[in-house]
Amino acid sequence: MPIRRLAARELRPATRQTPRAINQQIVLGLLRSHHAMSRAALARRLGMQRSAIGRIVSTLIAQGLVCEGPAQTTARGRPSTLLHLDSRGRCAVAVDVRVTRTHLAVADLVGREISPVASFPTDLDPRAFVAHLAHEVRRLLAENPAAGRCQGVGVAVPGMLDRAGEVVVHAPALGWRNVALREMLAASLGLPVVMENAVKAWALAQVWALRGEPRSGDMVFVNVSDGVGVGVVIGGEVLRGRHNVAGEFGHLPLSVDGPRCACGATGCWEAYVSNLATLARYVGRPLEPGRPVPAEVARLTVDDVVARARGGDARALAALLTTAHYLGLGLASIVNALDPERVYIGGEISAAWDLLEPTVRAALAQRTLVAAAADVNIVVVAAEEHPRLRGAAALVGAPILGVQPIA
Ligand SMILES: [Zn+2]
Repeated sequence: MPIRRLAARELRPATRQTPRAINQQIVLGLLRSHHAMSRAALARRLGMQRSAIGRIVSTLIAQGLVCEGPAQTTARGRPSTLLHLDSRGRCAVAVDVRVTRTHLAVADLVGREISPVASFPTDLDPRAFVAHLAHEVRRLLAENPAAGRCQGVGVAVPGMLDRAGEVVVHAPALGWRNVALREMLAASLGLPVVMENAVKAWALAQVWALRGEPRSGDMVFVNVSDGVGVGVVIGGEVLRGRHNVAGEFGHLPLSVDGPRCACGATGCWEAYVSNLATLARYVGRPLEPGRPVPAEVARLTVDDVVARARGGDARALAALLTTAHYLGLGLASIVNALDPERVYIGGEISAAWDLLEPTVRAALAQRTLVAAAADVNIVVVAAEEHPRLRGAAALVGAPILGVQPIA
Protein backbone atom coordinates (compact mmCIF):
# COMPACT_ATOMS: atom_id res chain seq x y z
CA MET A 1 0.00 0.00 0.00
CA PRO A 2 1.49 3.39 -0.96
CA ILE A 3 2.37 5.72 1.86
CA ARG A 4 0.07 8.73 1.90
CA ARG A 5 1.98 11.96 1.60
CA LEU A 6 1.02 14.63 4.05
CA ALA A 7 0.17 18.01 2.59
CA ALA A 8 2.21 20.80 4.16
CA ARG A 9 -0.90 22.48 5.58
CA GLU A 10 -1.68 19.36 7.63
CA LEU A 11 1.59 19.83 9.45
CA ARG A 12 0.73 23.31 10.63
CA PRO A 13 -0.53 23.56 14.19
CA ALA A 14 -4.29 24.08 14.32
CA THR A 15 -3.98 27.18 16.48
CA ARG A 16 -1.64 29.15 14.28
CA GLN A 17 -0.91 32.61 15.62
CA THR A 18 0.97 35.59 14.25
CA PRO A 19 4.00 36.84 16.22
CA ARG A 20 1.92 39.92 17.10
CA ALA A 21 -0.88 37.79 18.54
CA ILE A 22 1.67 35.71 20.45
CA ASN A 23 3.20 38.85 21.97
CA GLN A 24 -0.27 40.01 23.01
CA GLN A 25 -0.82 36.64 24.66
CA ILE A 26 2.50 36.90 26.49
CA VAL A 27 1.67 40.40 27.77
CA LEU A 28 -1.76 39.20 28.93
CA GLY A 29 -0.12 36.20 30.61
CA LEU A 30 2.40 38.42 32.43
CA LEU A 31 -0.34 40.77 33.62
CA ARG A 32 -2.31 37.73 34.74
CA SER A 33 0.52 36.30 36.82
CA HIS A 34 1.94 39.59 38.14
CA HIS A 35 -1.45 41.32 38.61
CA ALA A 36 0.06 44.66 37.57
CA MET A 37 3.10 45.78 35.55
CA SER A 38 4.25 49.01 33.93
CA ARG A 39 5.05 49.33 30.23
CA ALA A 40 8.73 49.72 31.16
CA ALA A 41 8.71 46.53 33.22
CA LEU A 42 7.04 44.64 30.37
CA ALA A 43 9.64 45.96 27.91
CA ARG A 44 12.48 44.87 30.21
CA ARG A 45 10.92 41.49 30.84
CA LEU A 46 10.35 40.73 27.16
CA GLY A 47 13.54 42.37 25.90
CA MET A 48 11.50 44.59 23.57
CA GLN A 49 11.54 48.28 22.74
CA ARG A 50 9.27 50.53 24.83
CA SER A 51 7.58 51.69 21.62
CA ALA A 52 6.76 48.11 20.55
CA ILE A 53 5.32 47.33 23.99
CA GLY A 54 3.39 50.62 23.84
CA ARG A 55 1.73 49.53 20.58
CA ILE A 56 0.78 46.10 21.97
CA VAL A 57 -0.64 47.68 25.15
CA SER A 58 -2.63 50.28 23.17
CA THR A 59 -4.23 47.49 21.15
CA LEU A 60 -5.12 45.55 24.30
CA ILE A 61 -6.59 48.67 25.93
CA ALA A 62 -8.64 49.39 22.79
CA GLN A 63 -9.94 45.80 22.92
CA GLY A 64 -11.03 46.30 26.54
CA LEU A 65 -8.66 43.60 27.76
CA VAL A 66 -6.23 45.80 29.69
CA CYS A 67 -6.78 48.95 31.75
CA GLU A 68 -4.49 51.52 33.35
CA GLY A 69 -4.31 52.11 37.09
CA PRO A 70 -3.59 55.50 38.65
CA ALA A 71 -0.23 57.08 37.73
CA GLN A 72 2.56 56.52 40.25
CA THR A 73 5.98 58.01 40.68
CA THR A 74 8.87 55.56 40.45
CA ALA A 75 11.94 55.57 42.71
CA ARG A 76 13.76 57.54 40.01
CA GLY A 77 11.04 60.16 40.08
CA ARG A 78 9.56 59.21 36.70
CA PRO A 79 5.78 58.81 36.38
CA SER A 80 4.65 55.28 35.72
CA THR A 81 1.26 53.73 35.15
CA LEU A 82 0.55 50.19 36.17
CA LEU A 83 -1.43 48.04 33.76
CA HIS A 84 -4.00 45.45 34.84
CA LEU A 85 -6.20 42.94 33.09
CA ASP A 86 -9.55 44.68 32.72
CA SER A 87 -12.12 42.66 34.65
CA ARG A 88 -14.27 45.64 35.69
CA GLY A 89 -18.01 45.17 35.66
CA ARG A 90 -17.77 41.57 34.49
CA CYS A 91 -17.78 38.31 36.38
CA ALA A 92 -18.04 34.57 35.95
CA VAL A 93 -19.58 31.85 38.06
CA ALA A 94 -17.15 29.02 38.79
CA VAL A 95 -18.56 25.58 39.62
CA ASP A 96 -16.56 22.62 40.94
CA VAL A 97 -18.67 19.47 40.79
CA ARG A 98 -17.58 16.84 43.30
CA VAL A 99 -19.23 13.59 44.20
CA THR A 100 -20.27 14.61 47.68
CA ARG A 101 -20.76 18.37 47.34
CA THR A 102 -20.68 20.88 44.51
CA HIS A 103 -18.86 24.14 45.23
CA LEU A 104 -19.46 27.44 43.49
CA ALA A 105 -18.40 31.07 43.70
CA VAL A 106 -18.62 34.30 41.76
CA ALA A 107 -15.17 35.18 40.41
CA ASP A 108 -13.69 38.02 38.42
CA LEU A 109 -12.40 37.21 34.96
CA VAL A 110 -8.89 36.71 36.33
CA GLY A 111 -10.23 33.91 38.54
CA ARG A 112 -10.20 35.66 41.92
CA GLU A 113 -13.20 34.81 44.05
CA ILE A 114 -15.41 37.80 44.75
CA SER A 115 -18.03 35.93 46.75
CA PRO A 116 -17.66 33.38 49.52
CA VAL A 117 -17.58 29.79 48.24
CA ALA A 118 -21.04 28.22 48.52
CA SER A 119 -21.77 24.51 48.32
CA PHE A 120 -24.65 22.06 48.16
CA PRO A 121 -24.91 18.25 48.16
CA THR A 122 -24.41 16.93 44.61
CA ASP A 123 -27.55 15.26 43.22
CA LEU A 124 -26.52 12.10 41.39
CA ASP A 125 -29.51 12.37 39.05
CA PRO A 126 -28.32 14.74 36.28
CA ARG A 127 -31.70 16.48 35.82
CA ALA A 128 -32.09 17.11 39.53
CA PHE A 129 -28.47 18.29 39.62
CA VAL A 130 -29.01 20.81 36.80
CA ALA A 131 -32.14 22.21 38.47
CA HIS A 132 -30.36 22.51 41.82
CA LEU A 133 -27.22 24.08 40.33
CA ALA A 134 -29.20 26.59 38.24
CA HIS A 135 -31.06 27.66 41.37
CA GLU A 136 -27.79 28.12 43.31
CA VAL A 137 -26.12 30.06 40.47
CA ARG A 138 -29.09 32.47 40.25
CA ARG A 139 -29.11 32.92 44.02
CA LEU A 140 -25.36 33.62 44.14
CA LEU A 141 -25.56 36.19 41.32
CA ALA A 142 -28.56 37.88 42.96
CA GLU A 143 -26.62 38.14 46.24
CA ASN A 144 -23.59 39.72 44.51
CA PRO A 145 -24.96 42.43 42.22
CA ALA A 146 -21.75 44.48 42.47
CA ALA A 147 -19.83 41.69 40.71
CA GLY A 148 -21.10 42.98 37.38
CA ARG A 149 -22.52 41.25 34.35
CA CYS A 150 -22.07 37.50 34.39
CA GLN A 151 -20.16 36.47 31.27
CA GLY A 152 -20.67 32.78 31.72
CA VAL A 153 -20.52 29.74 33.96
CA GLY A 154 -17.40 27.57 34.06
CA VAL A 155 -18.06 24.01 35.22
CA ALA A 156 -15.32 21.62 36.33
CA VAL A 157 -16.54 18.01 36.25
CA PRO A 158 -14.81 14.96 37.77
CA GLY A 159 -15.04 12.83 34.65
CA MET A 160 -14.19 12.39 31.01
CA LEU A 161 -15.76 14.79 28.53
CA ASP A 162 -16.06 14.68 24.76
CA ARG A 163 -13.63 16.87 22.85
CA ALA A 164 -16.20 19.61 22.32
CA GLY A 165 -16.80 19.91 26.06
CA GLU A 166 -20.52 19.24 25.56
CA VAL A 167 -21.06 15.79 27.00
CA VAL A 168 -19.90 14.04 30.17
CA VAL A 169 -18.96 10.78 28.48
CA HIS A 170 -18.12 8.95 31.69
CA ALA A 171 -17.85 10.23 35.26
CA PRO A 172 -17.23 6.99 37.19
CA ALA A 173 -17.56 8.45 40.69
CA LEU A 174 -20.86 10.16 39.79
CA GLY A 175 -22.15 7.19 37.80
CA TRP A 176 -22.84 9.46 34.79
CA ARG A 177 -22.49 8.27 31.21
CA ASN A 178 -23.23 10.38 28.13
CA VAL A 179 -24.88 13.27 29.96
CA ALA A 180 -25.27 16.36 27.73
CA LEU A 181 -24.64 18.56 30.75
CA ARG A 182 -23.45 21.73 29.02
CA GLU A 183 -26.58 22.14 26.92
CA MET A 184 -28.89 21.26 29.84
CA LEU A 185 -27.25 23.90 32.04
CA ALA A 186 -27.06 26.57 29.35
CA ALA A 187 -30.75 26.08 28.56
CA SER A 188 -31.69 26.22 32.22
CA LEU A 189 -29.58 29.31 33.02
CA GLY A 190 -29.76 31.29 29.78
CA LEU A 191 -26.02 31.97 30.20
CA PRO A 192 -22.99 30.69 28.27
CA VAL A 193 -21.60 27.55 29.91
CA VAL A 194 -18.06 26.20 29.45
CA MET A 195 -17.39 22.72 30.75
CA GLU A 196 -14.11 20.93 31.33
CA ASN A 197 -12.70 17.96 33.21
CA ALA A 198 -11.91 19.24 36.71
CA VAL A 199 -8.19 18.50 36.74
CA LYS A 200 -7.73 19.63 33.13
CA ALA A 201 -9.42 22.92 34.16
CA TRP A 202 -6.93 23.25 37.04
CA ALA A 203 -4.05 22.49 34.63
CA LEU A 204 -5.34 25.00 32.06
CA ALA A 205 -5.57 27.73 34.69
CA GLN A 206 -1.97 27.03 35.71
CA VAL A 207 -0.78 27.05 32.08
CA TRP A 208 -2.55 30.36 31.64
CA ALA A 209 -1.00 31.78 34.81
CA LEU A 210 2.47 30.76 33.62
CA ARG A 211 2.18 32.25 30.10
CA GLY A 212 5.05 34.60 29.56
CA GLU A 213 7.13 32.99 32.30
CA PRO A 214 10.36 31.25 31.32
CA ARG A 215 9.71 27.69 30.15
CA SER A 216 8.01 26.04 33.08
CA GLY A 217 8.53 22.46 31.92
CA ASP A 218 6.13 19.56 31.79
CA MET A 219 3.68 19.38 34.66
CA VAL A 220 1.34 16.80 36.12
CA PHE A 221 -1.67 17.66 38.30
CA VAL A 222 -2.99 15.01 40.67
CA ASN A 223 -6.19 15.56 42.57
CA VAL A 224 -6.84 13.04 45.33
CA SER A 225 -10.42 13.37 46.47
CA ASP A 226 -13.60 11.29 46.03
CA GLY A 227 -11.79 9.99 42.95
CA VAL A 228 -8.29 10.52 41.60
CA GLY A 229 -8.02 12.91 38.67
CA VAL A 230 -4.85 13.58 36.72
CA GLY A 231 -4.06 16.35 34.25
CA VAL A 232 -0.90 16.37 32.14
CA VAL A 233 0.74 19.42 30.56
CA ILE A 234 3.41 18.65 27.97
CA GLY A 235 5.17 21.47 26.13
CA GLY A 236 2.72 24.02 27.53
CA GLU A 237 -0.38 22.18 26.26
CA VAL A 238 -2.85 20.03 28.16
CA LEU A 239 -2.57 16.46 26.90
CA ARG A 240 -5.92 15.28 25.53
CA GLY A 241 -5.32 12.33 23.22
CA ARG A 242 -7.65 11.21 20.48
CA HIS A 243 -10.77 10.98 22.65
CA ASN A 244 -9.91 13.63 25.25
CA VAL A 245 -9.23 10.95 27.88
CA ALA A 246 -5.42 10.98 27.88
CA GLY A 247 -3.80 11.09 31.29
CA GLU A 248 -6.35 9.04 33.24
CA PHE A 249 -3.65 7.62 35.49
CA GLY A 250 -6.23 7.21 38.27
CA HIS A 251 -7.48 4.13 36.44
CA LEU A 252 -4.09 2.57 35.78
CA PRO A 253 -4.02 -0.69 37.76
CA LEU A 254 -1.65 -0.96 40.69
CA SER A 255 -2.73 -4.59 40.96
CA VAL A 256 -5.01 -6.57 38.66
CA ASP A 257 -6.96 -8.14 41.50
CA GLY A 258 -7.08 -5.23 43.92
CA PRO A 259 -10.17 -3.51 45.36
CA ARG A 260 -13.08 -2.62 43.08
CA CYS A 261 -12.95 0.82 41.50
CA ALA A 262 -15.84 3.16 40.67
CA CYS A 263 -15.05 2.62 36.96
CA GLY A 264 -15.97 -1.06 37.25
CA ALA A 265 -12.44 -2.43 37.02
CA THR A 266 -10.39 -3.73 39.93
CA GLY A 267 -7.10 -2.56 41.39
CA CYS A 268 -7.06 0.93 39.84
CA TRP A 269 -4.76 3.47 41.55
CA GLU A 270 -7.90 5.42 42.51
CA ALA A 271 -9.27 2.40 44.41
CA TYR A 272 -6.16 2.52 46.64
CA VAL A 273 -5.82 6.25 47.30
CA SER A 274 -9.25 7.91 46.99
CA ASN A 275 -10.85 9.37 50.10
CA LEU A 276 -13.17 6.35 50.24
CA ALA A 277 -10.15 4.01 50.19
CA THR A 278 -8.54 5.88 53.10
CA LEU A 279 -11.81 5.82 55.09
CA ALA A 280 -12.29 2.10 54.35
CA ARG A 281 -8.81 1.43 55.63
CA TYR A 282 -9.46 3.46 58.76
CA VAL A 283 -12.75 1.73 59.64
CA GLY A 284 -11.20 -1.62 58.74
CA ARG A 285 -13.78 -2.81 56.23
CA PRO A 286 -13.88 -2.71 52.45
CA LEU A 287 -16.27 -0.13 51.01
CA GLU A 288 -17.57 -0.82 47.53
CA PRO A 289 -17.93 2.20 45.24
CA GLY A 290 -21.55 2.74 44.26
CA ARG A 291 -22.89 0.79 47.26
CA PRO A 292 -24.42 2.64 50.22
CA VAL A 293 -21.75 3.75 52.66
CA PRO A 294 -22.36 2.57 56.26
CA ALA A 295 -23.62 5.36 58.52
CA GLU A 296 -20.53 5.40 60.74
CA VAL A 297 -18.40 6.03 57.63
CA ALA A 298 -20.75 8.55 56.01
CA ARG A 299 -20.25 10.80 59.04
CA LEU A 300 -16.46 10.65 58.62
CA THR A 301 -14.27 12.64 56.27
CA VAL A 302 -10.59 12.40 55.42
CA ASP A 303 -10.19 15.68 57.33
CA ASP A 304 -11.44 13.82 60.44
CA VAL A 305 -8.94 11.00 59.87
CA VAL A 306 -6.13 13.56 59.52
CA ALA A 307 -7.23 15.32 62.73
CA ARG A 308 -7.35 11.99 64.59
CA ALA A 309 -3.89 11.02 63.28
CA ARG A 310 -2.54 14.32 64.57
CA GLY A 311 -4.30 13.66 67.88
CA GLY A 312 -2.39 10.40 68.37
CA ASP A 313 -4.88 7.89 66.85
CA ALA A 314 -2.44 5.23 65.60
CA ARG A 315 -5.06 3.56 63.38
CA ALA A 316 -5.79 6.86 61.65
CA LEU A 317 -2.09 7.47 61.06
CA ALA A 318 -1.60 3.92 59.73
CA ALA A 319 -4.53 4.38 57.31
CA LEU A 320 -3.03 7.63 56.02
CA LEU A 321 0.47 6.18 55.67
CA THR A 322 -0.85 3.22 53.67
CA THR A 323 -2.57 5.70 51.36
CA ALA A 324 0.75 7.59 51.17
CA HIS A 325 2.55 4.39 50.15
CA TYR A 326 0.10 3.71 47.31
CA LEU A 327 0.15 7.38 46.35
CA GLY A 328 3.94 7.15 45.94
CA LEU A 329 3.71 3.94 43.89
CA GLY A 330 1.24 5.55 41.48
CA LEU A 331 3.30 8.74 41.27
CA ALA A 332 6.30 6.59 40.36
CA SER A 333 4.36 5.25 37.33
CA ILE A 334 3.63 8.83 36.29
CA VAL A 335 7.26 9.87 36.76
CA ASN A 336 8.47 6.82 34.82
CA ALA A 337 6.02 7.54 32.01
CA LEU A 338 6.38 11.32 31.73
CA ASP A 339 9.42 12.46 33.78
CA PRO A 340 7.76 15.81 34.56
CA GLU A 341 9.41 18.93 35.92
CA ARG A 342 6.76 19.33 38.61
CA VAL A 343 3.86 17.40 40.12
CA TYR A 344 1.05 19.39 41.74
CA ILE A 345 -0.99 17.55 44.36
CA GLY A 346 -4.37 18.75 45.54
CA GLY A 347 -7.36 17.39 47.43
CA GLU A 348 -8.16 16.90 51.09
CA ILE A 349 -5.10 14.70 51.58
CA SER A 350 -2.87 17.76 50.99
CA ALA A 351 -3.68 18.90 54.56
CA ALA A 352 -1.63 15.97 55.87
CA TRP A 353 1.31 16.34 53.51
CA ASP A 354 3.85 16.76 56.35
CA LEU A 355 2.77 13.33 57.69
CA LEU A 356 2.62 11.67 54.26
CA GLU A 357 5.62 13.00 52.37
CA PRO A 358 8.37 10.71 53.73
CA THR A 359 6.28 7.62 52.88
CA VAL A 360 5.31 9.00 49.47
CA ARG A 361 8.97 9.78 48.70
CA ALA A 362 10.13 6.34 49.86
CA ALA A 363 7.61 4.59 47.57
CA LEU A 364 8.58 6.89 44.70
CA ALA A 365 12.25 6.09 45.20
CA GLN A 366 11.43 2.37 45.31
CA ARG A 367 9.79 2.38 41.89
CA THR A 368 11.29 5.13 39.76
CA LEU A 369 13.68 3.75 37.16
CA VAL A 370 16.15 6.61 37.40
CA ALA A 371 17.12 7.70 40.91
CA ALA A 372 17.17 11.41 40.03
CA ALA A 373 13.57 11.24 38.77
CA ALA A 374 12.37 10.37 42.28
CA ASP A 375 13.41 13.86 43.39
CA VAL A 376 10.66 15.34 41.23
CA ASN A 377 9.47 18.69 42.52
CA ILE A 378 6.12 18.10 44.29
CA VAL A 379 4.00 21.20 44.85
CA VAL A 380 1.20 20.71 47.36
CA VAL A 381 -1.85 22.91 46.77
CA ALA A 382 -4.04 23.46 49.83
CA ALA A 383 -7.74 22.73 49.46
CA GLU A 384 -8.48 26.31 50.61
CA GLU A 385 -6.87 27.59 47.43
CA HIS A 386 -9.73 25.95 45.48
CA PRO A 387 -7.59 25.11 42.45
CA ARG A 388 -10.43 23.42 40.54
CA LEU A 389 -12.79 26.30 41.23
CA ARG A 390 -10.17 28.73 39.92
CA GLY A 391 -9.77 26.49 36.91
CA ALA A 392 -13.52 26.69 36.33
CA ALA A 393 -13.38 30.51 36.50
CA ALA A 394 -10.50 30.54 34.02
CA LEU A 395 -12.61 28.60 31.52
CA VAL A 396 -14.83 31.68 31.22
CA GLY A 397 -12.29 34.43 31.90
CA ALA A 398 -9.35 33.34 29.80
CA PRO A 399 -11.05 33.45 26.38
CA ILE A 400 -12.71 36.81 27.19
CA LEU A 401 -9.38 38.28 28.27
CA GLY A 402 -7.82 37.05 25.04
CA VAL A 403 -6.00 34.00 26.37
CA GLN A 404 -7.22 30.83 24.75
CA PRO A 405 -6.60 28.09 27.29
CA ILE A 406 -8.21 25.27 25.33
CA ALA A 407 -5.82 23.53 22.97
ZN1 LIG B 1 -10.86 2.65 37.86
